[in-house]
Amino acid sequence: MSFTNEQVERYSRHIILKEVGAKGQKKLLNAKVLIIGAGGLGAPVAMYLAAAGVGTIGIADADEVDLSNLQRQVIHTTADLGKAKVKSAKETMQAINPDVKVNTYRKFITSENIMDIIKDYDFIIDGTDNFPAKFLINDACVMAGKPFCHAGIIRFKGQLMTYVPGEGPCYRCVFKDPPPKDAVPTCKQAGVIGAMAGVIGSLQAMEAIKYIIGKGDLLTGRLLTYDALTMTFRTVKLPKNHECPVCGDHPTITKLIDYEQAECDMHI
Ligand SMILES: [Zn+2]
Repeated sequence: MSFTNEQVERYSRHIILKEVGAKGQKKLLNAKVLIIGAGGLGAPVAMYLAAAGVGTIGIADADEVDLSNLQRQVIHTTADLGKAKVKSAKETMQAINPDVKVNTYRKFITSENIMDIIKDYDFIIDGTDNFPAKFLINDACVMAGKPFCHAGIIRFKGQLMTYVPGEGPCYRCVFKDPPPKDAVPTCKQAGVIGAMAGVIGSLQAMEAIKYIIGKGDLLTGRLLTYDALTMTFRTVKLPKNHECPVCGDHPTITKLIDYEQAECDMHI
């Protein structure tokens, strides 16, 4: 694959970097990344990956754009209110860079559909805002052997880590089970500073790009935490948990779990 003149100009600031170069840019153009969630985290990830020329980007979200989203979900505008988030996101991404192909999935990710959706992608971004989705993405990626970048944000705090098969702990090695429902407040209940989504989502985009070009150190075996009020970034080393129920030596979770569904079942 050779570059068009337009591509040489569009990606010139990448191509000039010795860590990227023409070779790295071609890797980006050939890469396929899936973003689950077209919200606060998914917005900067989708925009930076589209701008970077990641050739195929999938984006999954069942919701429509709501006025309360616009304080942080910068991929959507006031004119997009009521529109499907995946449609609005795709329009912005293709306005930034018509070079990229955007696949949209207007649906909630469940144990029934996640394996089929992730199978075509090289790297997955967890841009979701709830624990059932985070554990589902983790377990599916471990089972399918897919690398992914987890992130979470609330109030003035954010965190992220990256899982690469065979290279470090998974999300469940660190956080064994979802907390009981309502034990941990959501962003809707507790609030989140809008720029936090920009900081942490941009870091997720950076992890995906580094994974694709094969340069630098990923957040594998490390959890990065960011406290905006004290302006502190920390990385905590995370060992692999050999007792992990999904990626450990003797896995006990061998089927995907829909946690919300399981909770509902308990009440029937
Ligand atoms: Zn694990």
